[in-house]
Amino acid sequence: MPQIRLKPGREKSLLRRHLWIFSGAIHRADGNIASGSTVDLVSAGGHFLARASYSPASQIRARVWTFDEESVDSEFFRKRIRSAIDMRRRSNVEGQSNAYRLIYAEADSLPGLIVDRYDDVLVLQSLTAGSEYWKQTLADLLLEETGLAVIYERSDADVRELEGLSPKVGLLRGETPPFPMTIHEHDLKFLVNLQSGHKTGFYLDQRRNRLRVRELAKDRDVLDCFCYTGGFTVNALAGGAQSVLSVDSSAEALALCKENITLNSLPAGRHTALEGDVFQLLRKFRDENRSFDLIILDPPKFAPTAAHAEKAARAYKDINLLAFKLLRPGGVLVTFSCSGGVDSALFQKIVAGSALDAEVEAQIVEWLSQGADHPVSLHFPESAYLKGLVCIKK
Ligand code: SAH
Repeated sequence: MPQIRLKPGREKSLLRRHLWIFSGAIHRADGNIASGSTVDLVSAGGHFLARASYSPASQIRARVWTFDEESVDSEFFRKRIRSAIDMRRRSNVEGQSNAYRLIYAEADSLPGLIVDRYDDVLVLQSLTAGSEYWKQTLADLLLEETGLAVIYERSDADVRELEGLSPKVGLLRGETPPFPMTIHEHDLKFLVNLQSGHKTGFYLDQRRNRLRVRELAKDRDVLDCFCYTGGFTVNALAGGAQSVLSVDSSAEALALCKENITLNSLPAGRHTALEGDVFQLLRKFRDENRSFDLIILDPPKFAPTAAHAEKAARAYKDINLLAFKLLRPGGVLVTFSCSGGVDSALFQKIVAGSALDAEVEAQIVEWLSQGADHPVSLHFPESAYLKGLVCIKK
């Protein structure tokens, strides 16, 4: 096994079971290690620490497969995949939806590999040199362990660039699935485009929070900002909202949002879709003295890493401030951040600052997060990224 020797003291993160080794921690690597292949990480004193995949192009030079001296082979990956599938079974995510995350990379001890299940179709995202190296093996195992026949690949996330990998989209196993296809979430149906939709097609991580919005929506005038294909919008209408105004910059997403309303036989007459920039439209609504009872803010990732946190904080502050102003007294703000670079404490501070500058009093009545199919490894806090607050304006 080729070896990577760490600098003195740089084994500390591994002893805490974190899975990444950055290039700066490496003293010496054996020559000619193939991208994605398996290496042993050893301490400065030559002690075995972990077995990992090697990413020569990335700052994250190695990602741990195992802390044991076991072989990393097909049977190893079968055990990991089984354990991820078992966990979803135990948390009964299938009782809520036929679309859920089956494997969540580092959080399931499979760095770089994301697999989402949409009914009978698996969508695979390979994000690192290591997952790329094992991709064909992983694809075969996934079919064996789930009994399914189709895998569609959506390895088109930007982070692949950091690993020196080009984007790959297309059929990996089986026959081309329908685009869009229909999934169900609780008792609602959604059209999902696995080929061109965001992420792997749908924001699976918001499942529980969409249901929460449904519970809060009765008789309310709702504003759903960054609505995408209408996850929150459809739930608000299903919950008996008086009216729902959905805003997104993507015409394609809004078209699917409207189709999703019809698909669920919900009252389209109570719905308005507006294509545009949320930052500008919130200002326009303020200038027009418009007001709402329930506002949802679910923006895209403003800060992928902590380096972007300051700029992201300004953007979050801006939209939350405007939303507080547009809320009627007693109104509810459901506000999210999916930025890895902004943690929940910072997000709460930003929202507090927004209320202060909007000169409103508000209380937090609930903290929201990603669903159980997006677990968080205690040793890898980076896997916690989605945070939401439910605030009530006094
Ligand atoms: N709430 C959605 C997911 C939102 S994803 C759900 O539950 O399914 C973020 C969305 O914001 C995307 O649809 C993207 O098109 C949109 N978007 C990004 N920047 C925007 C902007 N400045 N104004 C309006 N929409 C924007």
